[in-house]
Amino acid sequence: MIHFNGNKGVYPFYSGGLLMTQLYSSIITQCFTYIIVANNFVVEVDHSFENLTGFAKEEVCNKSVFTVINKILKIRADVDTLELNQDKKSYYLFTKDNEVREVDIYVADSDDSNVKVYRFIERQNSQLEDKLIFINHQFTENINCISIFSVPDLILLKANERCVDHFNAPYNKLDNSIGRSVYEILSEQVAGRVEQLQRELIRTQKPVYLKEYPLQESDKKITYWSTTITPVFDKGELKYMFIYSIDETELIANNKLITDQRENLLKSQIEKNKLLEDLVVMKDEFLATISHEFKIPLNVINSSIQALDMFCKDELSARAKKYIKFIKQNTFRQLRLVNNILDISRIQAGKININKKNLNIVFISESIVESVRVYAQQKDIQINFKSELKQKIISIDEAKFERILLNLLSNAIKFTPEGKEITVDVSQKTGYVQIKVEDMGIGIPADKQKVIFDRFGQVDSSLSRQAEGTGIGLSLVKVLVNAMNGKIYVKSTLGKGSSFVVLLPDKKAKERIAESTLIELTDNRLIHAIEIEFSDIYLN
Ligand code: ADP
Repeated sequence: MIHFNGNKGVYPFYSGGLLMTQLYSSIITQCFTYIIVANNFVVEVDHSFENLTGFAKEEVCNKSVFTVINKILKIRADVDTLELNQDKKSYYLFTKDNEVREVDIYVADSDDSNVKVYRFIERQNSQLEDKLIFINHQFTENINCISIFSVPDLILLKANERCVDHFNAPYNKLDNSIGRSVYEILSEQVAGRVEQLQRELIRTQKPVYLKEYPLQESDKKITYWSTTITPVFDKGELKYMFIYSIDETELIANNKLITDQRENLLKSQIEKNKLLEDLVVMKDEFLATISHEFKIPLNVINSSIQALDMFCKDELSARAKKYIKFIKQNTFRQLRLVNNILDISRIQAGKININKKNLNIVFISESIVESVRVYAQQKDIQINFKSELKQKIISIDEAKFERILLNLLSNAIKFTPEGKEITVDVSQKTGYVQIKVEDMGIGIPADKQKVIFDRFGQVDSSLSRQAEGTGIGLSLVKVLVNAMNGKIYVKSTLGKGSSFVVLLPDKKAKERIAESTLIELTDNRLIHAIEIEFSDIYLN
């Protein structure tokens, strides 16, 4: 009697003196897919076995059962274990075309001979191609690495050529790698990583993503991969891992190249900027020195003119006086430029001194407006002063504020046509006191508004050239406003006018330094400052 493992007695069989192989085949042929093994060698194969595996009878017969099971069909099972198998575990066998089939294997043996029958029953719906019909086409394209491993044994069930190429030799051929465990075909480190990912997959039951992980294959350059591992379920059970890997090496190399190039560019830009900064410092030093040198003779000329004015007034003809006036005015213009350059280069070098006092900003502003009224009147420009505040004490550097307001006013007068108005308005803003100088002048084009506070931000148009200048005044104004922790901005409409807004912090100095609410209108400094600041505007 023979019996199949796990099914003892179900298939009774009597030898009765016939040649065993003939006997077996005569009984089983019609029923099963099987091979007959005598003395551990395959002696018979049925037709449906050929259909299932794609291997012809001649390829299997006369081979040891070990060779057929393990080498030809690539079943990962010990022949002895198979014979003892009681738990009906299924196995993966691989066809001649390396397609996987899931089968149950039953071994029937006889009590009195060395003849065994191996019976294969293909599990229903066992063909991966049917299950994964939606991704089958991906195995034919060879752009990315695609593989399917069994869960939890991690046996390679299917892979495309691109993927197999990356396995360790000799497994870099599909025929050698299919049916093998991940530990055989990949390095210990990578196989360990796959196992770890499998654990994660089992735990989360969700796809796992790996981004740009490095892979060091022996004798090869390091490569970088982004991988998606998708769980594939069969009747609710997690059975396969579908691994899709994209080689990102080139992309990463390109990105690195771009990053390197960007870094190099940045480095050279920084070096260039440093060089420029050094050059600017050098230029400032040069300007400071040269301005200082200019200032000495200018002061001598100025004092000489004053001396002429004081001591030789009666000796001078009206004509000589007229020429002296020209000399005086142009000396002031030159002094204004030299002072501005000197100040700005001092400030750039961090040598600015801010001497703040608690002062009445309303009074000071009005006083300055009053003192330049004569210049405005001469151009038939009406100059107004407005303030919603009667008095406002804040801490400012008086001399610096004078420079600021005088500069704004001289510009307003310069660029406003006859018969128009200029208004200076002092008001309270949150945290600040606002001083606005509004004119009805030629206005400033939008693109130029951005540069007028830069050094030499002269709006180089014929209109602005009506009144000569160097474009240094507003940059100095901005630096001075900033030095007092204030802000400045401009709003302007071409042909309609401009308004320059200065915001100074609404703060008093901690120490109560002499709170001066008065400004000496005869103060020489202010008169001198006006003469210089307004030297572009000719007084008759
Ligand atoms: P500068 O020191 O030569 O007077 P500024 O820095 O004071 O130069 O001004 C720069 C330029 O901004 C001027 O040349 C002029 O074109 C423009 N500008 C300044 N204020 C006004 C204004 N109120 N109206 C029109 N243009 C102005």
